Amino acid sequence: MILDGKKLSKSKKQEFKTTVESLKDKTGRAPSLHVVLVGGDPASQVYVGHKEKLCQSVGVTSVVHRLESTVEAQDLKKLIESLNLDDEVDGILVQLPMPEALKKFDPLKYIDTKKDVDGLSSLNMGLMIKNQAYAEPCTPKGVIELLKANKIKIEGLKAAVIGRSEIVGWPMAWMLTRENATVTVCHSKTRNIDEILKSSDLIIAAAGRPHFVNKDMLKINAVVVDVGIHRGESGKLIGDVNPEGFSEKNITYSPVPGGVGPMTVATLVENLIGLYIIKTKEISSCV
Ligand code: NAD
Repeated sequence: MILDGKKLSKSKKQEFKTTVESLKDKTGRAPSLHVVLVGGDPASQVYVGHKEKLCQSVGVTSVVHRLESTVEAQDLKKLIESLNLDDEVDGILVQLPMPEALKKFDPLKYIDTKKDVDGLSSLNMGLMIKNQAYAEPCTPKGVIELLKANKIKIEGLKAAVIGRSEIVGWPMAWMLTRENATVTVCHSKTRNIDEILKSSDLIIAAAGRPHFVNKDMLKINAVVVDVGIHRGESGKLIGDVNPEGFSEKNITYSPVPGGVGPMTVATLVENLIGLYIIKTKEISSCV
């Protein structure tokens, strides 16, 4: 079976449109997303383009602040702080990675928790453990939705997450645990990764290594979610998983492209709508 993220995100688009319309009727304006894009990283430009496109198609206001890679950290901080103070800005996202010169600048330190649409700030990550985050990290949240929409029962599964990054691996391991899976986190220093994968029912591949996982590493009927995105030698997009021969083992998997990528973008819009709803409720409870 294929875990079709493209199809699911399309159906979510319809839901978003309806919700945005009704929010507009109630509040007089649509939720607004502000994206800060620093420098000209080609992959970042593509990701930001996808986000803009989905926002526009569901009636959400989206503004992209494009800054030169030579921008001073102070000026970037000032921009974020001005967006924090602007009542008509509901979600703020600084597209990562930052250019080399700004590698030490952590934009997440400055984004208002209530506008942190990616859910990656320290406070939201901490609140997530208490199920109280304003928004949760988009990629792992999208993975959980993709599994649930395809009726994969997570509870009781033995799961392996390959990767322990702050944006994917760690929050993914937590979310699977919350869904009652038993999770092993694998990383670059894990010794017996083949053994771990072979005994896992569910594998989330987020190592950032092209075609790292193949059919020989998996057990029959395994479910594999591929988070990785790479430009293959032929120029085509490929993932961390090589799906060749998966049908022989009845493996359920998410393709690249068309799996986790579209779910990440859809979840961003879902988070934005969520932040806007929390904000309007807080305002109305103060009046
Ligand atoms: P990262 O480089 O920050 O983290 C990679 C993790 O994988 C690290 O924790 C590292 O320990 C682990 N790792 C590396 N080599 C390994 C190995 N040989 N064995 C086991 N573990 C290993 O990457 P990231 O930001 O988490 O992204 C991972 C991949 O997912 C990348 O390809 C990225 O482009 C992609 N990504 C996709 C989406 C999406 O929406 N589809 C979103 C975010 C990231």
